[in-house]
Amino acid sequence: MKAKAMAKTKTAVAEAATNQQQELSSLMQQIYMCNHGHVPWQVDICAKFASELLNEYNATINRGDSPSPSPRTHTIKSLQAMNSKEEYSEVWNDAGKMKLLVAYFLSLGTKHATEENMWAARVYAHYACFFEEYIASELNNTQASMNRAKMVELLCASDDHTLISYLKHRIPCTCLNEMYKQVKSTKKMGLCFNEDCSHPDRMVDRDAMLNCTRCRSANYCSRECQVADWPKHKKVLCDEVAKAIASFASEQKNLKLEGAN
Ligand SMILES: [Zn+2]
Ligand SMILES: [Zn+2]
Ligand SMILES: [Zn+2]
Repeated sequence: MKAKAMAKTKTAVAEAATNQQQELSSLMQQIYMCNHGHVPWQVDICAKFASELLNEYNATINRGDSPSPSPRTHTIKSLQAMNSKEEYSEVWNDAGKMKLLVAYFLSLGTKHATEENMWAARVYAHYACFFEEYIASELNNTQASMNRAKMVELLCASDDHTLISYLKHRIPCTCLNEMYKQVKSTKKMGLCFNEDCSHPDRMVDRDAMLNCTRCRSANYCSRECQVADWPKHKKVLCDEVAKAIASFASEQKNLKLEGAN
């Protein structure tokens, strides 16, 4: 009886020790786990914004209401939904708050890339890039317009080089260094903006692509594709961006003149 009780106590002690060890190791993990540059939210409205944005993304997928369901449609729709909400205008107008969102999505993208969940990593990187471009062109006026080709490529490029290189060069940690070494020799791919392009998934070697010199916002695999897309491209993108570039250039000129006086 005594021996049995002792054995029982021994088991209980051993169990407690194991539990303690497990608790300790999970605590260590929490302390040392890298957040890839995202510090836990201090600004409530940004946390709310981010979670609602992702809800909107999932909602557009679940509704299945887009004629051509593509990740691009879902990200655009979710961003439009957030943009129309009055309560978030303070986020859309504040570069500081936007930068917190950039850091958050870079961190999520990195986390998913390290877990080889490339699909999710692309969506998060795309959001980070969108807010980065938004800050530069809409809030800080450091560039004429948002770089659409860059945003699209992060989401759609079939190579991992584009994605990993984008994230690696923005996070403050070294978590993607190994992965970057593995992918940096693969060719970066670009998306041909002609929707009827005959290349598989409209993907081609990016270094060999032609860029629309008027707006610099659209890339093509060939002269043929550029010509075929021109009527549509002019209407939906090129005119608008070309106008933004022209007014940006004249603003810069005025700033220079003011500086000279
Ligand atoms: Zn990290
Ligand atoms: Zn093409
Ligand atoms: Zn153009």
